[in-house]
Amino acid sequence: SKPIVAIVGRPNVGKSTLFNKLAGRRISIVEDTPGVTRDRIYAEVEWLNKKFTLVDTGGIEPESEDVILSQMRRQAEIAIETADVIVFMVDGKEGITPADYEVANMLRKTQKPVLVVVNKIDNLSLEDNKYEFYNLGIGDVISISAAQGLGIGDMLDEIVSFF
Ligand code: GDP
Ligand code: MG
Repeated sequence: SKPIVAIVGRPNVGKSTLFNKLAGRRISIVEDTPGVTRDRIYAEVEWLNKKFTLVDTGGIEPESEDVILSQMRRQAEIAIETADVIVFMVDGKEGITPADYEVANMLRKTQKPVLVVVNKIDNLSLEDNKYEFYNLGIGDVISISAAQGLGIGDMLDEIVSFF
C-alpha cells in the first residue's frame, strides 16, 4: 500500500549508489529478496513523514550489449507496470547515450510521473550538463551527486510531491 518508486536507467549511471545512500540513511526495513542474487533491491524510505518503497532495478551487470538492452527494456516495463513514480537516472558526466534514448522512448508512453535525475554532478562547474537531458523529451530534470550526497533532499521533495 506504500507508494513504489523505481530507479531505472542504463548500467553504470549510479542507480545502486543512490539506492544504498537512501537505504542507509533512514533505515526502517531493508529486505533481502529471495531468488534475487543481489541483496537489498527493495528499501523502505521515509521523507517528510511520507513513506515509500524504493526499488533498485539494476540487477546483475550483463556482459553483452544485447543483454544490456533487453534487460533495460524489461526493467522499464516492470517500472511502468508497478511503480507509482519512476526515477530515470542518467549520467551527467557522459551525457545522453543511445541507451538513454531507448529507455526514454519507453517511459514516454506512461502516464505515471517520471523524474529525470542527472547523476554525477559532483560540483557546480558540472551543473550546466543537465540541460541537454531535456532533449530526452521526458520533462522535469534535476541534478544530483549520489556519491557526494548533493541534491538528494531536493530530489526527495520532488518524488514525494507526486504521492
Ligand atoms: P548502476 O550500474 O547504475 O547501479 O551504477 P553504480 O551505482 O554501480 O555506479 C557506477 C559507477 O558510478 C561507480 O563507479 C560509482 O562509484 C560511480 N558513481 C555513482 N554515483 C556517482 C556520482 O555521483 N559521481 C561520480 N563521480 N561517480 C558516481
Ligand atoms: Mg546497480
